[in-house]
Amino acid sequence: MLTALCVSLGAQAPGVPAATRTRVDAIAAEITPALIATRRDLHQHPELGFRETRTAGIVADRLRALKFDEVRTGVGITGVVGILKGGRPGKVVAIRADMDALPIQEAIAAAYKSLVPNVNHSCGHDGHTAILLGVADVLSRLRAEIPGTVMLLFQPAEEGDPDGGKTGALRVLEANGLANPKPDVIFGLHLDPQIEVGQIGVRSGPAMASASRFTLKVIGKKTHGAMPHTGIDPIPIAAQIVSAFQTIPARQIDAQQPTVLTIGRMSGGNRYNVIADMVEMEGTVRTFSADGPETVKTKMEAILKGVTASYGASYELNYFTNAPVTFNDPGLSTASIAALKTVFGEKVLTPQLQMVSEDFSYYQQQMPGFYFFVGVKNQARGITAMWHTEYYEMDEAALAIGVRALANVALDFLSR
Ligand SMILES: [Zn+2]
Ligand SMILES: [Zn+2]
Repeated sequence: MLTALCVSLGAQAPGVPAATRTRVDAIAAEITPALIATRRDLHQHPELGFRETRTAGIVADRLRALKFDEVRTGVGITGVVGILKGGRPGKVVAIRADMDALPIQEAIAAAYKSLVPNVNHSCGHDGHTAILLGVADVLSRLRAEIPGTVMLLFQPAEEGDPDGGKTGALRVLEANGLANPKPDVIFGLHLDPQIEVGQIGVRSGPAMASASRFTLKVIGKKTHGAMPHTGIDPIPIAAQIVSAFQTIPARQIDAQQPTVLTIGRMSGGNRYNVIADMVEMEGTVRTFSADGPETVKTKMEAILKGVTASYGASYELNYFTNAPVTFNDPGLSTASIAALKTVFGEKVLTPQLQMVSEDFSYYQQQMPGFYFFVGVKNQARGITAMWHTEYYEMDEAALAIGVRALANVALDFLSR
């Protein structure tokens, strides 16, 4: 099972030299106007998953201009990988940003608002891409003193394939995108509207939930609405299933294992005086354990079998997991959190577990990874809207903080 490991933070080997940390801070400050300009340009031109061709073009051009040793394009359809070899031999560190936007019409009135109808960076991936380009700038300037190799991954379609296929991380892995050389570890971050700007949220062990998606058909037998006994009415059966499903998180799973089972859509029937032939539902399951998605599925099947059999109905369940648990490697987390505390001190805090998910979790199945959160909320300025809403916005001071954070955890890993 997934268990957070508590290790004394004082026991770390010396990390990034103070002079290098100062240099990172100075470069991040210097490039802040460029970071903001890049983020605003990407924000004005958002692209949905596997369609990030303009974004990928900007990324590839920038990496080439920074004299990266290799720039690979078309990775996992529209992803970009840049390789930067340091001046000294060492380990390989990967850092990932996601590039895709969401099919949401933006509702804020900024001068740099989205120019694409019904497409917007409502998850802040414009900021992630700008931050990783900033990291590319910082590390390319420090390259002579870097002990090892840096691989920057600009991933497509974190929000999933708009056409219903596999998510971007799986496409990148299938394309062998994280190889040649194979990274020893991987880092990533998400801008977070629940955390005040200036603060950084970190967790060891589980950090974000698994996400599974299901569609369900409850199949009955159509007949006249006045003669239900001559058919099989799936509507009351579906209602019992909805109620019974809620006993899975509420009564069947340990309360210490947070679990969500949501039915997000339900429809069925033909007419007011016709007994329906079918009810369709779809929903999502979130858990924090490796076996959580399968455990919930098994319990759903037991309810479906029992309830439908009682009435002579049948069912079809299609259940698949979009993303496993985002699980931060305890050893890597301990070291990286210490590195962040050296730079950001008391601004590093531990947020609550989140039931949202990340396909970064697929990389963490291949190598140790550490994923953390950088605050973009600014209560005083009214920047508080949640991810995936038409009002999502960020305090752009977070961009330089993200650059400093990622550059430091990467350099810290390579220096150990
Ligand atoms: Zn999102
Ligand atoms: Zn996101």
